[in-house]
Amino acid sequence: MEHPLLPGGTIGILGGGQLGRMSAIAARRMGYKVRTFDPASGACAAGIADEHVTAEWSDTAALTRFAQGCGRITLEFENIPPATVEFVAKSVPSHPSANVLAICQNRRREKEFLRTAGIPCANFAVVSSLVELQAAVQTIGFPCVLKTADFGYDGKGQVKLPTAEADLAAAWHKIGGAVGVLEAWVPFQMEISVLVARTVDGRTAVHDPAENIHRNHILHLSISPARISEATATEARALALSIAEKISLVGLLAVEMFVKEGRIVVNELAPRPHNSGHQTFDANETSQFEQHIRAVCGLPLGGTKPLAPSAMVNLLGDLWRNGQEPDWTKVLADPAAKLHLYDKGKAAPGRKMGHITVTAATVEEAIRRAEALHAAL
Ligand code: AMP
Repeated sequence: MEHPLLPGGTIGILGGGQLGRMSAIAARRMGYKVRTFDPASGACAAGIADEHVTAEWSDTAALTRFAQGCGRITLEFENIPPATVEFVAKSVPSHPSANVLAICQNRRREKEFLRTAGIPCANFAVVSSLVELQAAVQTIGFPCVLKTADFGYDGKGQVKLPTAEADLAAAWHKIGGAVGVLEAWVPFQMEISVLVARTVDGRTAVHDPAENIHRNHILHLSISPARISEATATEARALALSIAEKISLVGLLAVEMFVKEGRIVVNELAPRPHNSGHQTFDANETSQFEQHIRAVCGLPLGGTKPLAPSAMVNLLGDLWRNGQEPDWTKVLADPAAKLHLYDKGKAAPGRKMGHITVTAATVEEAIRRAEALHAAL
């Protein structure tokens, strides 16, 4: 029996990026102490944490020091070795589990989990050689997309194969010739995502679907609530809840989905807060970050209702032209815009440096103003 970790306790977060930073803000607001752990120096969550450890994921001495005194350990980054989570879980209750992490961080295990669980996903085949890829395109058909099993995100490690003329050898080479997943292309009308939280004793809460618009494979705009029918939203929430139960989630899970003719196809799972949930910080009863903390600590889960329609626009490093900080006064001048900056130091193209959330009377108005503020930068 795992007791709730009440405010005043210490939460350890594996990973020190912006998701950890915002989870730490939520935790500290509630009176928790926070410790973060990251191999990279300059981790942006360190500025919010009470203590920060810089060490490799395999450094068991550092992990032991980190875990000592923590009442709970969680994570904010998907590519942590499951063995790291297994190691800290021996001394401190750690959520999500190493098993959930192992499934979500590898496309092969993820797709096989979804298929076995009876969750609708794109047809796929696992390929471990060029010969297998050549055979798999015959069954999956064109267009399709080849993805690396490990370490894929934001469209990295994937190649679209539009027609039978596609150069399979080049695609195989491009994903690095490691194990991959060949997926049928889903001609979706919209991408949405749903956040589901679950506690160790099986209580759940789900946020409304957000609608996601990408640019160059990176999330640009997230709109909440998504512009879908109530029936589709209900199906999306039900699928996310079903996945949370079937994977035995404890913590927060973001489920990315495609909507095609009102039906849903699940694309990806992330067992942590998600970029498409940032607007919940300013626009919902409970933010994804607070919900994450509540779920892993075994607290009652917070209400998920939207307080207002909202749009969140990402601020990528590309806005720092010649390393110059953008002129934030334009954003700050809008009373309904909330500026979030992650204190990441050096900007680089494609690097997520911050975001803006705009709330308005309608999603259309929120989108218009978020886009206008982004364009003004
Ligand atoms: P992923 O890294 O799997 O989240 O893929 C990144 C983006 O590529 C998704 O958000 C989609 O826009 C697109 N994508 C990935 N897989 C598919 C697919 N099977 N069909 C259509 N678009 C896809």
